[in-house]
Amino acid sequence: MRAFKAHLWGLAPYPYKKVEAPVKLDQNESPFDLPPSLKEEALRRLARLPWNRYPEIHAEGLRRRLAHLLDWPEEGIVLAPGSNLLILALAVAAEEVLDLVPSFPHYAHAARVAGTPRRAVPLLEGFALPLEALLAAFTGGVLFLPNPHAPTGALFPEEALEALAERAREVGGLLVVDEAYREFAGSDFSPLGRGNPHVAFLRTFSKAFSLGGVRAGYLLASPEVAALVREVLPPFVLPAHTGTILEVVLENPGYVEAVAAHVRAERERVYAKLRGHPTWQPYRSHTNFLLVRTPDAERAFRHLLAQGILVRRQDHYPGLFGCIRVTVGSKEEMDAFLKAAFEVAYA
Ligand SMILES: *Cc1c(COP(=O)(O)O)cnc(C)c1O
Repeated sequence: MRAFKAHLWGLAPYPYKKVEAPVKLDQNESPFDLPPSLKEEALRRLARLPWNRYPEIHAEGLRRRLAHLLDWPEEGIVLAPGSNLLILALAVAAEEVLDLVPSFPHYAHAARVAGTPRRAVPLLEGFALPLEALLAAFTGGVLFLPNPHAPTGALFPEEALEALAERAREVGGLLVVDEAYREFAGSDFSPLGRGNPHVAFLRTFSKAFSLGGVRAGYLLASPEVAALVREVLPPFVLPAHTGTILEVVLENPGYVEAVAAHVRAERERVYAKLRGHPTWQPYRSHTNFLLVRTPDAERAFRHLLAQGILVRRQDHYPGLFGCIRVTVGSKEEMDAFLKAAFEVAYA
């Protein structure tokens, strides 16, 4: 076959394998579906929607609403079916991608697909941000920085991000702060992008908004950067049904804080319990998951799965030997996880 660019053959598939289990703690989803009243309202609006008509070209109505809610210029917002698609668009557009290791795997995957050169800087001891090395490596291009960080759960300090934002301005690059987990940290780095067109932010509806299945995320950027990203994406990219559901949740966002509060409380409870585990070590997290170091990730994974609990192995990442990642689920799910976790110690 000579139809495709040669670099696309032999791309490693995205590291996800579907496994069935009664307690699903492997994808950092919300344990709760949308509140029934909101789901019913969305269904009513979907029934009235003319499905034969295209949606707005760049989701203008929703962008206006988000602009108003976030006090961000409407022209600086890009909506897409998932922030993963925005990451791909940014990677296609980028001169170069700068990334951390370990980090959210889609940044590297998107750069590979796009054929964009990529460099990565390893995290320091204790999953600290390698600020000096990043400042030195950031000579242009797009730096993807998840904060809170995945897959470690760490929250990098504001001063470090300020330094990177200034560096982005100096070298004409773009710092992209991926805030997928911000509701669980109570963090908001968007002030760094007010007055600095070299900083942008990714947000998602997949985590605290409990809409992983709906597929929606957005970019906050300067009007110039946002306009470029909109042109890289296909027109009419946000489906009408997705837009309708987002309209309902943006009119009634109160449930999001309840989801985030549950996750924070449950995360701290499970963290405290795991601290008493004879061989497993949990890391502090500012997200809706816990990274846990075990003596043997394969054995921990198999043991939990045998008890009906599905988690995600992370031991393929440099520096994460023995690690598994556990999504914070409902109280019942976390009780089941803890019970199984303590059984393995004596198995
Ligand atoms: C979950 C997650 C996302 C969300 O991607 P969507 O395509 O919006 O579902 C983005 N970034 C990080 C770091 C994530 O963990």
